[in-house]
Amino acid sequence: MSPGKHTILVTGGAGYIGSHAVLDLLQAGYEVVILDNLVYGHRDLVEKVLQVELIVGDTSDRPLLDKLFQRYDIAAVMHFSAYAYVGESVTNPAKYYHNNVLGTLTLLEAMLEASVNKFVFSSTCATYGVPQSIPITENHPQDPINPYGATKLMVERILSDFANAYDFKSVIFRYFNAAGADPSGKLGEDHNPETHLIPLVLQTALGKRESISVFGTDYPTADGTCIRDYIHVTDLANAHVLGVEYLLTGGDSEVFNLGNGNGFSVKEVIEAAKSITGHDIKVVECDRRPGDPPALIGSSDKARKILNWQPQYSSLEQIITHAWQWHQQRHK
Ligand code: UDP
Repeated sequence: MSPGKHTILVTGGAGYIGSHAVLDLLQAGYEVVILDNLVYGHRDLVEKVLQVELIVGDTSDRPLLDKLFQRYDIAAVMHFSAYAYVGESVTNPAKYYHNNVLGTLTLLEAMLEASVNKFVFSSTCATYGVPQSIPITENHPQDPINPYGATKLMVERILSDFANAYDFKSVIFRYFNAAGADPSGKLGEDHNPETHLIPLVLQTALGKRESISVFGTDYPTADGTCIRDYIHVTDLANAHVLGVEYLLTGGDSEVFNLGNGNGFSVKEVIEAAKSITGHDIKVVECDRRPGDPPALIGSSDKARKILNWQPQYSSLEQIITHAWQWHQQRHK
């Protein structure tokens, strides 16, 4: 199919995963309009790197959405915009339910009104809660242990009800640990505050931080530290393009895990970063962080089979090498 004429609305397109998806959509020949409130997104990346239309606003602003859908002939929506700090979702759940649930519902209502019926949604492995079995498949029970995961699960439920009631189709992607950066070095992860392991380790290598804290060394894993499934953001982005193509060619509503299938421990990440950066990285061993399961590894066989998704950057070395290129130029 030639996507040439299709315009995709990307909410959160100025953020980490959204910006990589926009780049991939453009490379695949789509037109893109970004809606982003710029609370965490980066205007400079949209203007200098992506160079697409940026509408600054909230997904809960219904008049803005109505105008947007009137002005552009939108074929599908990719919805990345959400707050995603697990700890903050525990201390300030209202912020999370408002933006992640109410904002999304408002967007979905505006889509119904405008007869735009294809939706790609960023969900999370946090909807599974503490895993009962590994690797986690899409039919693993969902029982989130924090408000962030709960907001994402609520939207999943709304999408399932919409699919039953209306002519409305969605692809739900449940991400494992998004990491890495576009191989060109032009885009990457720039959160403020930063809480994720790989960027914090690289900031330590750059001398921007004194040390990296390892949260727990007494887990029942080979080296005592937590194991996570790190998935390269470019592979994630590519899955989104396949997801939108799947919907545009008549695919039914579906849910897919997106992970690497390989788990890496916190210590393995730090060791790989030491060898790739050539810098010493000071490690401080700390207590466990509340709510961290010992191991999270996903099965993405379904996305490989149905979407023909073929991740290209599965090694920890590729993920950290690309992230390192980005961090060096972003924090010059
Ligand atoms: N982690 C750590 N030190 C840090 C940040 C994270 O040891 O400064 C650990 C964390 O406990 C988890 C893993 O690294 O086991 C990945 O954490 P991250 O916050 O990157 O992603 P999450 O798995 O929480 O989504």
